[in-house]
Amino acid sequence: MSIVTRFAPSPTGRLHAGNLRTALFNWCLARGAGGRFLLRAEDTDASREAAGDLEQQLADLAWFGLDWDAGPDREGPGGPFRQSARGEIYREYLGQLAESGHAYTCYRTEEELRQRRAELRRRGLPPRYDREWAALPQAEVARRRQAGQLPAIRFTAPTAGEVAWDDLVRGPRALPASEISDFILARSGGMPGFLFANALDDALMGVTHVLRGEDHLVNTARQLAILQALGLPAPRYGHMPLLADPGGVKLSKRTGATSAGEFRAAGLLPLALANTLARLGHPWEDSGLLSMAELAAGFDPARLTSSAQRFDPAQLGHWQRLALDALDEAALARWAGPEAVAHVPAAQRARFLAAVRHNVVSPVEVAEWARILFGPAELKPPPETGGPPGLFAAARAAFDAGATDHKALAGAVKEATGLAGKNIFKPLRLALTGRPEGPELGALFAVMPRETMRARLAQHAQP
Ligand code: GLU
Repeated sequence: MSIVTRFAPSPTGRLHAGNLRTALFNWCLARGAGGRFLLRAEDTDASREAAGDLEQQLADLAWFGLDWDAGPDREGPGGPFRQSARGEIYREYLGQLAESGHAYTCYRTEEELRQRRAELRRRGLPPRYDREWAALPQAEVARRRQAGQLPAIRFTAPTAGEVAWDDLVRGPRALPASEISDFILARSGGMPGFLFANALDDALMGVTHVLRGEDHLVNTARQLAILQALGLPAPRYGHMPLLADPGGVKLSKRTGATSAGEFRAAGLLPLALANTLARLGHPWEDSGLLSMAELAAGFDPARLTSSAQRFDPAQLGHWQRLALDALDEAALARWAGPEAVAHVPAAQRARFLAAVRHNVVSPVEVAEWARILFGPAELKPPPETGGPPGLFAAARAAFDAGATDHKALAGAVKEATGLAGKNIFKPLRLALTGRPEGPELGALFAVMPRETMRARLAQHAQP
């Protein structure tokens, strides 16, 4: 059997780390098995969608490094891949369910349902929808229809037995059918509900595996019951714990989780994000940076854990450093962007980036180093270096005498002062950059303008 997976976001707002992890694992599952990966826009609730949200999500997924065989922007078998364009398909299958006795129209209003629930609660009963109560006399149905009221369409839930499935993450699960009430398949007005549209689309699109958040665990039995009633094949479902932030709050658009767009704008490399997310809830033999192809090849849904996972943005730094190390010169320059190196003479840019690449994790930090190394000759105020003035006098003298690299300079300083090693390099670096950490002295010599170096040494050489 060829594996088909999908990612099915509702196109409202931007995707966050939790969404991207779900998309990544579904992509890995398909790609690792040479299968197909689909994207489906679950946009039946058009009122919540802002213009451009879907396009933005597709752009974020592509940036993240995922590719899809079919989706809202790329039609293929089983499409269209936008639920808002599938109205006719939903009507057809709702009709099928009604004809086979698996669905019925319900003319009870929201207000009546609310009152009924309140009444049941008062009587100490579970506030559940019940089929007998919902059935109105024929005359009342006719009256409501004539008054223009549209019915909701409800599923005739099974009443005996159980709905069971083998969850890809949690193992065998089952729900007694008696716990499934006659839920809504389509709201009055005909808009299909999530349970119905989502399950039907998976079946019609040939989806074989669904990895999704455990917030959907409560839906699975009902979705399986729908597919069973339609005689359609069901995918295998796997429910993963939702990602939480370091404080334990579930990531969500509503609570302002960092979006893909924000990660991207901050210069985070997509591979760093993918490696961070892939390690939340899935073990990997290799603790180094994995390429997308390696992630796909090594992913195994059976190894997903069902324990809660926290996404701490601090984890990103480690992977960002590794992902940056893996960039070649051209990719590094693209990542930094033209603005970050605007102050660096064009001929020096590659050398500059090579000098600072291990000291930065964002283009903003690249720009900071560009300002430090190529800014005004003197640092104001002169940094505290902790070095004796004799050190700088000797350094400047050697510099003026033509020392062209840091080794020659250090040699001269050692001879003049008796100092050695970091007692020379540390004060020199501080004098040259104002920073205790940063590129090696050799790298600074290779890129900094000589006048700047001379001026900065001179700032400390005065007795
Ligand atoms: N649109 C649903 C969501 O974003 C899809 C759920 C699923 O993957 O089945 O939660």
